[in-house]
Amino acid sequence: DRIARKRDREFEQFEERIKDADQFKVEQSVFDDATFAALYKLVQDGHVEAFGGPLSTGKEANVYHALGGDREVAVKIYRINSSNFRQMRDYLEGDPRFEGLGGKKKDVVLAWVKKEYANLQRAQAAGVNVPDPIATERNVLVMEYIGDEDGRAKRLGEVSIENPETAYKVVREYMRRLYAAGLIHGDLSEYNIVFDEGQLVVIDLGQAVTVHHPNSRTFLERDCYNVANFFSREGFEVTGDDLLEFVTDP
Ligand code: ATP
Ligand code: MN
Repeated sequence: DRIARKRDREFEQFEERIKDADQFKVEQSVFDDATFAALYKLVQDGHVEAFGGPLSTGKEANVYHALGGDREVAVKIYRINSSNFRQMRDYLEGDPRFEGLGGKKKDVVLAWVKKEYANLQRAQAAGVNVPDPIATERNVLVMEYIGDEDGRAKRLGEVSIENPETAYKVVREYMRRLYAAGLIHGDLSEYNIVFDEGQLVVIDLGQAVTVHHPNSRTFLERDCYNVANFFSREGFEVTGDDLLEFVTDP
């Protein structure tokens, strides 16, 4: 029927873009057949319509800007052959949501993507401003795009902060809510908080662990230390211990 034809046409265009675009060079080895199938499924399900350029190319994943069904989205594509899968495994330890996970590289990466999606959902439910999680398929995560036509939202470390005390208090409250919901970000710093339309948005929740993790306390302390250090450098003097106390105070 007409809708199916339209969809097929769109997918052909989508396929062409993937073949053409510089950012999908083979050496990045992101689009193996299985990844392509996952993207196709996301297109069929209406979560992704067309790809834009890369927002970030990292060791474990690349993030692309894309057009979703009704809004702009960010598509995070993990490499199955991630160099860091052993570390990924460590971050899945003790997590009751992923009990019985074996040591296979592929299984670890796929669980990781599901974990990032679940963490975004949980953070959002706890009242933390994060990108709206939209869908996952295999090694691909689709979420709300944070940014505007000028590009992705700037990281906290990339903007000049007018009022560091206010920003600190927002981050502190986000950390408290996250902790109250049983989650610890695990990589929180000025690199994983972005500034969008006057709001702070926490990103990159893949490594976030539940409080059951054997090292959860260490991760929490490290997050507190990094965040407090950043705001102290920005001119609002605060210690990691102050922050830790606030976050863990019931
Ligand atoms: P890194 O190792 O650099 O931390 P990562 O692979 O862990 O990267 P993220 O931190 O989730 O991935 O994303 C990398 C970058 O992509 C972010 O710093 C941000 O600039 C951009 N980005 C990620 N998610 C979004 C989003 N939802 N909207 C807009 N930009 C995003
Ligand atoms: Mn990051």
